Amino acid sequence: MIAYIILIVVVAVLLVGIGGTMLLRPRGMHGVRRGRAKELDLTGPMPRASDDTRSGGTGTATAPHPTTQPTTPVQRPAERLVLEKPPPSAGRMTKLRARLARSQSGFGSALLGLLSRDRLDDETWDEIEEVLITADMGVTPARQITSDLRTRVKVEGARTPDEVRAMLRGELLAQVETEASRALRTQRHEGRPAVVLVVGVNGTGKTTTCGKLARSLVGDGESVVLGAADTFRAAAADQLQTWGERVGAQTIRSYKDQADPASVAFDAVSAGIEQEADVVLIDTAGRLHTKNDLMDELGKVKRVIEKRTAVDEVLLVLDATTGQNGLRQARVFAEVVDVTGIVLTKLDGTAKGGIVIAVQRELGVPVKLVGLGEGPDDLAPFDPVTFVDAILGE
Ligand code: GDP
Repeated sequence: MIAYIILIVVVAVLLVGIGGTMLLRPRGMHGVRRGRAKELDLTGPMPRASDDTRSGGTGTATAPHPTTQPTTPVQRPAERLVLEKPPPSAGRMTKLRARLARSQSGFGSALLGLLSRDRLDDETWDEIEEVLITADMGVTPARQITSDLRTRVKVEGARTPDEVRAMLRGELLAQVETEASRALRTQRHEGRPAVVLVVGVNGTGKTTTCGKLARSLVGDGESVVLGAADTFRAAAADQLQTWGERVGAQTIRSYKDQADPASVAFDAVSAGIEQEADVVLIDTAGRLHTKNDLMDELGKVKRVIEKRTAVDEVLLVLDATTGQNGLRQARVFAEVVDVTGIVLTKLDGTAKGGIVIAVQRELGVPVKLVGLGEGPDDLAPFDPVTFVDAILGE
């Protein structure tokens, strides 16, 4: 009997021992997992289930939101270390002037040729007006320039080539220059980052402009957070993130299909505030199905951002090669949001320079930036004098 009891006790002890070992085993496995996580921590911040939104570069978490994700894939340390140093924005238009001159020379040299004729009869003045109209500036400015030139020629009499050039230069400048400042509001103010909304029809170069602008601002010493609120075009967020990664600007984005642009924008602004960035640039979708769709979407994005801070700039991106069509787009956007500046892209292409005059007149806001190529630093602050001189081939 005693032996029987001892046997039962021994079996019981053995069973408890085996059970204990089995219970300990998962704890051991968990430790390995944690170890692995720790290894990954060396390369970058690990996404946690509770952190849906997170900065890519520094690992600082922002306000959690279900639609947004870490912006920088975790295992890319080498890429993040090699940051490019973009050049500052000053003097860029002068550097890129040759491209402008190439695309605009037809218009300027045709005008100079006509104005240098010995006899300026009615027919020649009609031709001058036609050249101006076909340069996309619109009928009213073309008539204004022609009539002003005609008066000056009558009053001043003799015309040397230099005088003709100076006259035309003066007239063009008068049309291109605006009283409104072309400076971008991208500085921190009242302890908050500046917020820039970038709007425009898809295909105009909106996302590229956001990326180039981020580079240019980084080149000017500003810290930038990007918001990929163009959630309609699947590749837009990847494109923007790539631009940002090259210069160390973080991109707040969503990996969810058709995510709510307003919530991405909100998270981007929140990230900018938390990280004390200088400026938050937000790329938006430009679907033009109906004006109401656009109004609903952009209106919501703006309202939601304004729960955190004011929107400082609304930059409308227009493709300069689209002429009248671009102007129609500009009109629709201006009815939907308060545009504060125009970005004219693709001025290096087949664009006609008159579009600068036409769009400024149409919207009553200045062209602030121009795109002069597909290269990363081919975005320049717009300078009227350089522009007009390029048209005249100087
Ligand atoms: P989005 O749909 O408006 O965001 O357009 P993207 O930013 O994707 O740009 C559309 C195309 O326009 C791309 O191939 C860009 O490289 C090109 N692009 C943008 N800006 C310029 C520019 O200033 N000059 C030229 N030549 N191409 C540009």
